[in-house]
Amino acid sequence: LSQRLSSVFDKLTGRGALSEADVTEALREVRVALLEADVALPVVKDFVARVKARAIGQEVVKSVSPGQMVVKIVHDELIATLGTEGVELNLNAVPPAVILMVGLQGSGKTTTSGKLAVRLKKERKKVLLASLDVYRPAAQQQLEILAGQADVGSLPIIMGEMPVAITKRALEMGRKEGYDVVILDTAGRLHIDQELMAEVAAVRDVAKPVETLLVADAMIGQDAVTLAHEFNEKVGVTGIVLTRVDGDSRGGAALSMRAVTGRPIKFLGQGEKLDALEVFHPDRIAGRILGMGDVVSLVEKAMETVDQEEAEKLAKRIEKGKFDLNDMLSQFKQVEKMGDLKGILGMMPGIGKMAAQLKDAKIDNKAVARQKAIIQSMTPAERRNPDLIKASRKKRIAAGCGLSVQDVNKLLKQHQQMADVMKKVGKLGQKGLMRHGLG
Ligand code: GDP
Ligand code: MG
Repeated sequence: LSQRLSSVFDKLTGRGALSEADVTEALREVRVALLEADVALPVVKDFVARVKARAIGQEVVKSVSPGQMVVKIVHDELIATLGTEGVELNLNAVPPAVILMVGLQGSGKTTTSGKLAVRLKKERKKVLLASLDVYRPAAQQQLEILAGQADVGSLPIIMGEMPVAITKRALEMGRKEGYDVVILDTAGRLHIDQELMAEVAAVRDVAKPVETLLVADAMIGQDAVTLAHEFNEKVGVTGIVLTRVDGDSRGGAALSMRAVTGRPIKFLGQGEKLDALEVFHPDRIAGRILGMGDVVSLVEKAMETVDQEEAEKLAKRIEKGKFDLNDMLSQFKQVEKMGDLKGILGMMPGIGKMAAQLKDAKIDNKAVARQKAIIQSMTPAERRNPDLIKASRKKRIAAGCGLSVQDVNKLLKQHQQMADVMKKVGKLGQKGLMRHGLG
């Protein structure tokens, strides 16, 4: 057990700035992770090149490995590329505002139309659903049923009517009956074809939508690039909805489509039910694409908790055999910031289970707070030179922090023991310090 633990810790030791070799090695794994997540190849190439330029020369935070540091940089770049979260629907138009749903057959356009209707209804918008899918049998009825479930308006079906005519009728009904939003659900094809594109473009010219949402199945994989490019070129896309995110897919299509169109991903479909629609959060998809969410949170925790400068200052003082109560106080603060040691161990890949078995790994935060309070009741002179602290001073300090003289004695004794150890360690020099796991 301890051997596996220590090998993990070995890997977790930082070593200065990221070299080109570190970055290249780590990016090889990242490239595989992105391809496994089905991010399109040209997008992967572009992305990896950008990360490489950013990563080389960057400082590695203590207590993480260069590989982990690169993963963190990749993660941040992914989030930046995926774009900001919570980009709302744009409904800025003379009512009714038109939303045009486009995409391949079976991508989830009709379902998403129903989901959006539910969502907009909650925002007190009056919504009309209209199906332009005159090709698939019962497609129009499918939307009508969803409109009933969502309790929103539905354009009456006239058999044999063509998409552009249906669009005109939907707009007219929307205007006459005071609808805020009209959602046009178009037909899809199994593959992109020019006839479909021409039809959707004709509908667009009549409907003048404020939003044209490209709906795509998260499983689309490498085809995402062609799909997004074609629809954006021929119809013009204002936002992307990724469906079936509740499935096995790792969501690489989100990155591909975003990179190709530059349009925001607005929603994620998380199931078949009408309430299974979520606002897009780039951090969640980024973690999923990389499949390395644990490493990212580990690095983040290490970055925020370990105050590098403070640690180095302390190391220098210890090297000289010095360790006063101020040093002890800053140690306590670090320990407090690190929080539950078990929690931190649990984030390290592969040792979560072992960490659960470490019963005494929990830091008693209350005890640490008490010890801090005692030191904070001391004068600066006392902290620098604990020998000054005799009986009357002890009484004053105890009163100052609401604890007993015994507590003060216990802390002073503990400090004495730590200072003795530090003195010995100091004689071994910096390298010895690291070996003792105190660096
Ligand atoms: P359209 O051809 O683009 O209109 O696709 P549909 O809306 O008819 O959806 C096709 C199938 O996918 C239906 O069985 C839906 O229930 C299902 N579906 C749509 N969105 C999601 C989703 O986010 N998650 C899951 N699991 N299924 C979905
Ligand atoms: Mg449909």
